[in-house]
Amino acid sequence: MGSLGIYFMSLFKCPETVTKKLEAIRARFFWGASYEKGGLNVGSLQAFNIALLQKWRWRYLVHPGDLWVSVIQAIHGNRFDKVNVSSHSTWSTLVTTCNDSVSNGFLPNDAFFTKVGNGSSVRFWFDTWCGNSSLFTRFNRLFHLDLNQQDTIANKWCNGEWVWTWSRSNLGGRNSVLFEELKSLVSQFHAVDRDDYWTFSISSDGLFSVKVARDYIDHIMLPSSSVATIWFKFIPRKVNIFLWRLSRDALPLHWNLSAKGIDISSIVCPVCNNGIENVDHLFFSCSVAKEIWIKIRVWLNCNMPSFGSWESFLSWIEGSFSNNVVLFAVKKKMNNTTSKDTRAVYKSDV
Ligand SMILES: [Zn+2]
Repeated sequence: MGSLGIYFMSLFKCPETVTKKLEAIRARFFWGASYEKGGLNVGSLQAFNIALLQKWRWRYLVHPGDLWVSVIQAIHGNRFDKVNVSSHSTWSTLVTTCNDSVSNGFLPNDAFFTKVGNGSSVRFWFDTWCGNSSLFTRFNRLFHLDLNQQDTIANKWCNGEWVWTWSRSNLGGRNSVLFEELKSLVSQFHAVDRDDYWTFSISSDGLFSVKVARDYIDHIMLPSSSVATIWFKFIPRKVNIFLWRLSRDALPLHWNLSAKGIDISSIVCPVCNNGIENVDHLFFSCSVAKEIWIKIRVWLNCNMPSFGSWESFLSWIEGSFSNNVVLFAVKKKMNNTTSKDTRAVYKSDV
């Protein structure tokens, strides 16, 4: 499910209506951020789309000599973050999506950060290399007074000091203050004898990864619950998902369907015809459920109390799992019973 649309999304911005429709379909089954945030670790398609498009930005920055980059630059200019949005090309949509994801707060301004070496490939004004945004953004007034706006750092750094090329000798009051601020900021810079290189600040190793970017965006974008999801590796995946839906009262029981405004003939439990079909009744207080619980107690040979609700069951099982009471009983039973025997137990007894 997580890989849905990987081909299309790695190059094109998915229309919002399509994304919303797809998210809605997936959300009917499972939705949410990481296990810690109460989800099932299934990320959103929108985050995936953004992360895949941002990979183009990474490739563009770290492989400036590639032929395809030269072609893009010949058509769209030599700044990744500034293209003619009215052209409606695939590339301009891609760049706009990348820029929007930063301005919308899904990724930080300094997500793509230049580590300066000799400064020969880092543009003084446009690249983010000092602080968490470009100097063009922070000192826009001064930028317009510079005669050499396309300079790299190496162009402006000569023999151990900065060389400024302002269009007028007297910058004036406000600009002078900004200039002092700029000088103080860049005074920390010292050229070193190695190439400049790009880092992805979110990732621990500094390299771009779609997964890291996607997880980061999901963390901001997706709703989260204060209760972490417990995922038991030794039980089938579908059972884990069923329990997750059960814990969120998201099963299509008559009571829930009725609460969502669906017209159903009755909300009474169809198993016993005695009580409203909700989670607590169907799984705990229904007469058939009670019989099944008795069988489970006998099967596991485990001292288990009777439960009246999901909450009481959950608090008991959390305590029991920390003491490994249930785990031990289940494992012991599994070791002594083949899968064929287990089926026989279910068929004959339950
Ligand atoms: Zn019932």
